[in-house]
Amino acid sequence: MTKLGRELASQGINVISLSVGEPDFNTPEHVKEAAKKALDENFTRYSPVPGYPDLRQAIVEKLKKENNLDYDISQIVVSTGAKQSLSNVILTLINPGDEVIIPTPYWVSYSEMVTLAEGKSVFINTEIESDFKITPAQLEAAITPNTKLFMFSSPCNPTGSVYSQDELAALAKVFEKHPNIFIISDEIYEHINFGTAHASIAQFDAIKDRVIIVNGFSKAFAMTGWRLGYIAASKEIAAANDKLQGQTTSGTCSIAQRAGIMAYEQGLDSVNEMKEAFARRRQLVYDLLQDIPGVKTNLPEGAFYFFPEISSFFGKKDANGNVIKDSADLALYLLNVGHVATVGGDSFGNNNYIRLSYAASDDSLREALRRIKEALGKLV
Ligand code: PLP
Repeated sequence: MTKLGRELASQGINVISLSVGEPDFNTPEHVKEAAKKALDENFTRYSPVPGYPDLRQAIVEKLKKENNLDYDISQIVVSTGAKQSLSNVILTLINPGDEVIIPTPYWVSYSEMVTLAEGKSVFINTEIESDFKITPAQLEAAITPNTKLFMFSSPCNPTGSVYSQDELAALAKVFEKHPNIFIISDEIYEHINFGTAHASIAQFDAIKDRVIIVNGFSKAFAMTGWRLGYIAASKEIAAANDKLQGQTTSGTCSIAQRAGIMAYEQGLDSVNEMKEAFARRRQLVYDLLQDIPGVKTNLPEGAFYFFPEISSFFGKKDANGNVIKDSADLALYLLNVGHVATVGGDSFGNNNYIRLSYAASDDSLREALRRIKEALGKLV
């Protein structure tokens, strides 16, 4: 959709993009300065495969200070974004035929990565009524003798849902009974969280060794282009990821790593500023969505997405008589008629929804929601 939106924009059409998953803020100045300094100091050579020791130490300290979790630097592997971290973990853990449980809706790449590793994705469906969260009973029912891994994000892309401390404790109890299952906890949206404080499932000692935390700098520090992410895991899993990465990408960009140290050293002021803007926009979009007949939404607790239910428009026709059959059709219609780029929920495993990113200015959001309302109102 982003690509199609750009094509329309290149024809001179004013397209508002609510389809991309990145903050619309610039990387904080102090982080950029650290990168410039790194260049001047000639941090331009190959870096250690799992990352510079002082960056890994800064990550260890962050995990202690912000999450009250104890790790040693031998348990941290830095890579080219959380995406590569996820891919590394899946490739090291999954053998052909292994089952990976993924709650839907999920971030698009999860199931594709499992397919690349010749594993089998097993989906647990969730809907807006349960705030898109799974229950321990649903988890238990999805487990088979072939289950090797469970993976989820909290705060979640695409729904913005956040698992509470109690909800995580209940899921951890299930994993306690199944000692062969690993858990990927994707915490990349940790700091963009408006509800209860972020909690990590790695806090439960009985399962901590099997939890792989995936995190990074893209979302919290508006550093999507820098490509900097990491895992915190058991020493064995960290060593396996190090080995794999050593034969694929090697250590990630030296300059980005020096900038990452600065981001963690300087703390969360810039993140909090960004969060304030996101909180305001979240309320704005929520109010505007409530005002569109046929659209059902919840108020997401984290990330910067809404995932409204739009199936009431299926079966309706546009001005040319074309029938809207599914979420992809609706997203295409909104782009062509409303000139707003969104993403159909089918990309995230739930066809009855669309994803809207509110990483855009207040004015753009107001105008985008006006256009969406108008375009949906024309369907008959
Ligand atoms: N995990 C989730 C849930 C995401 O939404 C994204 C990016 O959109 C990533 C991981 C990847 O982040 P990175 O830019 O660090 O590779």
